[in-house]
Amino acid sequence: MQIQQHGDNFSYLIADDTTREAAVVDSSFNAGEIIRVLKVENLRLNYVISTHSHSDHTAGNEELRSMFGAKTVAHRQSRINADVAVDDDDVIRVGSVLIRVIYTPGHTPDSICLLVDGKKLLTGDTLFVGECGRTDLPGGNSRSMFDSLFNKILKFSDDVEVYPGHDYGLKSSSTIGEERRSNYTLQPRSLAEFIEFMKQP
Ligand SMILES: [Zn+2]
Repeated sequence: MQIQQHGDNFSYLIADDTTREAAVVDSSFNAGEIIRVLKVENLRLNYVISTHSHSDHTAGNEELRSMFGAKTVAHRQSRINADVAVDDDDVIRVGSVLIRVIYTPGHTPDSICLLVDGKKLLTGDTLFVGECGRTDLPGGNSRSMFDSLFNKILKFSDDVEVYPGHDYGLKSSSTIGEERRSNYTLQPRSLAEFIEFMKQP
C-alpha cells in the first residue's frame, strides 16, 4: 500500500493478510497516517525499513519504533543506527512476504531497493517515474548510479512494478518495461556519457 500524507514523499506498507505482520518502507512524514492504517487494519509492525538515510525518508522512524517496538532496518553502510543492518541480496520476511534487498548506491552510499515477492520493486531515490535520483548531494556517485540502474534495476523483467520514493512522475508507479522505454535517464549511454549527462542541471 502506497501512503502519502504530506509533501511528495511516498511511504509503503507491506503486510501479510493472514499473519497480520507488517513492514513500513520509508516512514517519511507519514507516521500519522501509517499509525492510523496499522490500527484500522489490525496489523503488527515488525520492521521500519529505510531505502537510505536522508531525513525526508526516515523522519517517522523513531515514532513508529517506539510506538510498536518495530526494528529499524537499513543498509550496513547507513549512518542510521539501525537495529538490523542489511546487505545486497538479504531477505527480510514479513509473514509469508519476502522482501529482497538490492544494493543500489549512487544517490547515497547506503541506497537500497526492495523487491517484494519478486514482482514489486520499491526504488527509493534511485529511480523515479520518468527520472533517476540525484548524484550531486554528499555521498552521491554517478559511476555507482550507472551500475545500479543499468546492471541491477534494468536487469529485472519488464513486468516488475516500480514504486518510487517520491511523487515526481506523471503517475505514482510504473513498471520496469515502461521506464526502460520512456525514462530519459535510462536511455542507452556509455559510462562516460552517463557521468557527463548527470552533471547537467
Ligand atoms: Zn534522498
